[in-house]
Amino acid sequence: MSVGKVYLIGAGPGDPGLLTVKGRECLERADVVVYDYLANPVLLGLAPEQAEKIYAGKTHGNHHIPQEQINELLAEKAISGLIVARLKGGDPFVFGRGGEEAAYLHARNIPYEVVPGVTAGFAAAAYAGIPLTHRDITTSLALLTGHERPERKLSSLDWEKLATGLGTLIFYMGMTNLKLISSELIRYGRAPETPVAVVQWATLPRQRTLVGRLDTIAEEVKKAGLEPPAVIIIGEVVRYREELRWYDNLPLFGKRFLITRPRAQATDFVVLLQQQGAETICIPTIEIVPPEDLAPIDDAVRNLAEFDSLILTSANGVEALFERLRANRLDLRCLAGVQLVAVGPKTAKALNKHGLQPDLVPKDYRAEGVVEALLAEGVRGKRILYPRAEIARTLIIERLQHAGAEVVAPVAYRTVRPQGKEEMIRHLLSAGELDALCFSSSSTFDNLLAMLGDDFRQLQGRVKLFSIGPQTSETIRKHGYQVDLEPHQSTLDDLVKAMVNYYRKK
Ligand code: SAH
Repeated sequence: MSVGKVYLIGAGPGDPGLLTVKGRECLERADVVVYDYLANPVLLGLAPEQAEKIYAGKTHGNHHIPQEQINELLAEKAISGLIVARLKGGDPFVFGRGGEEAAYLHARNIPYEVVPGVTAGFAAAAYAGIPLTHRDITTSLALLTGHERPERKLSSLDWEKLATGLGTLIFYMGMTNLKLISSELIRYGRAPETPVAVVQWATLPRQRTLVGRLDTIAEEVKKAGLEPPAVIIIGEVVRYREELRWYDNLPLFGKRFLITRPRAQATDFVVLLQQQGAETICIPTIEIVPPEDLAPIDDAVRNLAEFDSLILTSANGVEALFERLRANRLDLRCLAGVQLVAVGPKTAKALNKHGLQPDLVPKDYRAEGVVEALLAEGVRGKRILYPRAEIARTLIIERLQHAGAEVVAPVAYRTVRPQGKEEMIRHLLSAGELDALCFSSSSTFDNLLAMLGDDFRQLQGRVKLFSIGPQTSETIRKHGYQVDLEPHQSTLDDLVKAMVNYYRKK
């Protein structure tokens, strides 16, 4: 067997978007991922599902696996022919012991590549609104460790040169020694009023930034309870933050929301919320599965040409329909003469993805809107196929039949409650770590209640309930809970806009 390869990949500082394209490509090909404490675990999702994932993280002062053992692990996996992604926080060659790992591999003739990452200091500066150099103020920059090997006690830093010979200083791992760092710098000639920014959890929605003066920053950090991981940026450039800060000014910055919709449909919502600075936690309370009896939907799918119209009321419905087309070895052509009705833009988009354009999208993106639009065209004597969710309302069927149509409405998919998620939700709620729960359908709420039972009332505390539209809100109220927010239009865009407004008003 030929030897594999080790990629020493910089995962970036936290925001998953800050991984490089090359880093992503390496992860996608990995057989094994060995990842650190500061590498965002979300990135593991980019590796193939069957790839082995090994945590090799160290937390401050608490070494899980000794470095020597990590080196051996990397070598051993590569020798057995595997592609190893060694995922390290920030940049692998900046205070990341990437050099030691590369040297170990080099000595054993094991192929490796180094994929740089956005180092925490640069990222913290960017997300705090601090340009690290500025031609009017400073032209040099140093990256330093505030936590050297214990036996050396920072002594190898030449304090005099640091204090007077350099512009901006960024300390990594400097929180424990902050008092020492600041007093030494002042002792050797930095002005006591030099501005300092301490940025904790940079680039993540839990980022916290404290700005102060060199002579008092250590006390202020203590008072504020700021802890590692944080970088310390020292220099006149810190003053620009006042003007240039942008990240922690985003409207939903610092807010944390639980997203309950199925993972496959959560991405759009998550992206919209993150663009506004929010933190999202996805724990789906529903899962989409095929109907128990496939015969009715398969029967309809095989006879599509006999229908005048096809009504689709969700992206799930579209996917389920295409799944059954595939399973029956059919394709788009059997839809040739059928009028396509989509309940709203999301469903229309799902059709677009399959190369189809809906003929009709009502102005009112609800079942009521579909009925109204079809009635306006006249449905008497028409054959209409309506592949539906198992728990869908009967409104469309009843109203169209009443108007003289023949409606065939086979179950196209069911939603079920995922197993084993209760504990996580319970934990998040009782730890007070959420601002609101977002529900995008009645079943997302029904299932949450079924998962938590009566405990939800007590667990909810000050956590708000946000609903995508009237039907979901009705379900929430029916159970005796208050809906804190519902947008005018039942779309994710409108929900996010309403959330921004909600917190702006507060
Ligand atoms: N190789 C990493 C640094 C690892 S040393 C890099 O290039 O970023 C660990 C130190 O990095 C922490 O003690 C802290 O000072 C800094 N750090 C890493 N991620 C951080 C983050 N998201 N926010 C602030 N500091 C971070």
